[in-house]
Amino acid sequence: MTTDLFAALREGLPAHTLVTDADIAASYARDMAGLCAAGRPAVVVLAETTEQVQHVMRVATRLRVPVVPQGARTGLSGGANAMDGCIVLSLIRMNRILHIDPIDRTAVVEPGVVNADLSKATAAHGLVYPPDPSSWETCTIGGNIGTGAGGLCCVKYGVTAEYVLGLEVVLADGQLLRTGRRTAKGVAGYDLTRLFVGAEGTLGVVTRATLALRPTPPPALVTVAQFASTATAARAVSAIMAAGHTPSLMELMDGTTVRAVNAMANMGLPAETAALLLIAVDTPAPAAELAAIEAICTEAGAFEAFTAEDAADSALFMQARRLALPALERLGTSMIDDVAVPRSRLGDMLEGVAAIAERFDTMIGMCAHAGDGNTHPIVIFDATDQAAAERAEAAFDAIMQLGLDLGGTITGEHGVGVLKREWLAKELGPVGVQVHLSVKAAFDPLGILNPGKVV
Ligand SMILES: Cc1cc2nc3c(=O)[nH]c(=O)nc-3n(C[C@H](O)[C@H](O)[C@H](O)COP(=O)(O)OP(=O)(O)OC[C@H]3O[C@@H](n4cnc5c(N)ncnc54)[C@H](O)[C@@H]3O)c2cc1C
Repeated sequence: MTTDLFAALREGLPAHTLVTDADIAASYARDMAGLCAAGRPAVVVLAETTEQVQHVMRVATRLRVPVVPQGARTGLSGGANAMDGCIVLSLIRMNRILHIDPIDRTAVVEPGVVNADLSKATAAHGLVYPPDPSSWETCTIGGNIGTGAGGLCCVKYGVTAEYVLGLEVVLADGQLLRTGRRTAKGVAGYDLTRLFVGAEGTLGVVTRATLALRPTPPPALVTVAQFASTATAARAVSAIMAAGHTPSLMELMDGTTVRAVNAMANMGLPAETAALLLIAVDTPAPAAELAAIEAICTEAGAFEAFTAEDAADSALFMQARRLALPALERLGTSMIDDVAVPRSRLGDMLEGVAAIAERFDTMIGMCAHAGDGNTHPIVIFDATDQAAAERAEAAFDAIMQLGLDLGGTITGEHGVGVLKREWLAKELGPVGVQVHLSVKAAFDPLGILNPGKVV
């Protein structure tokens, strides 16, 4: 079987795009969701053109071999994990920015473009691609589309789905589908573009994307507020939004996270804090709005609130926030959750997570895109201690149940992958699951596209 597969792939692919060495292929087995199952790929294809992707899908259809599309493998749900005998289809070499149009405010890119590289390229035109996951210096646009990624600035600028105007997608049988548009408006037909955003490679392989850009805003200034509890910090978040402000970023780190970031990068964050809020405003003259926000934080219970002196200082605070996940991962084995609740229920979510940590006697570090109600409780444990591992898993599940009970979702931005597959049914309900399965069958009748993920 493997010999047939290699021979069929070689008919349409140059030798340098194929990784057939079993050990090297195995190094492409998983993304960054540590505890998710992963198998051994039969082969890795490092595709360089859409035609090569089409060839891979035709071969996969003919031989009934599963295909796992991959970007930079920074995913946190096992969505890019291989299964035994599959073709890993890596898109990282398709990394050209094909066109930036300052009049239409669009960019046309291949899927392997790294998020931060796109921002650097658009900056020269006074434009920005706003969705900015914390992993922006490594993750790819294809992966961002696959997961429907969010990031730090979503509270004002929204998520990936709002910036994908059109796609070129290779379907399971190798046909090429073009969806969407490059116009500012357009409602012709079903919104197939949106269907592929967040589909985690289960419906087709994205080979090109037309993305909306925005004028580059002025550099943001950040207000930092310290609280004696996460509950009071959540109260400040609600009050800021209720007062009509729309910050460009509103992030929360609890005391555990702050101390972990200090330990990793010596950032000089206030170590005695129980909760730190970072609130950015990127309007041309932000001082008055930040002063009002500072006052709201103080009224909500902040024991200290101050605004960074300049954009450079502000950027340092944002950099500290971007380090939260890697810093917490150094404390032990970690499981990162991604539960989003309506912003109005953020306080209940944070209190509930603290109670879960106590109930299961496990450490949970908290960082959150607070302005979106998108929490990342990170359960940290000693994997060599069986009982601790079981308690950590139970805590992880309890966090998702809490999110659903509060009217939220089991994943705000990381996706379902293999990590949350069992939980998806709880969120969707039987009719929702049935419609999902019908959509999957319409695009992938043989079930070869990233099987075992999402539904
Ligand atoms: C330190 C750190 C911080 C993070 N911060 C954030 C954050 O703030 N916000 C956030 O949303 N995520 C965050 N993430 C998670 C991760 O970076 C995102 O999910 C990102 O979108 C994944 O991109 P990738 O290129 O690594 O994709 P991969 O992990 O390789 O793939 C992700 C999914 O997309 C599919 N896929 C990849 N390419 C294609 C394609 N061309 N066509 C179809 N499907 C495809 C894969 O099959 C998989 O299901 C973070 C991760 C880390 C490690």
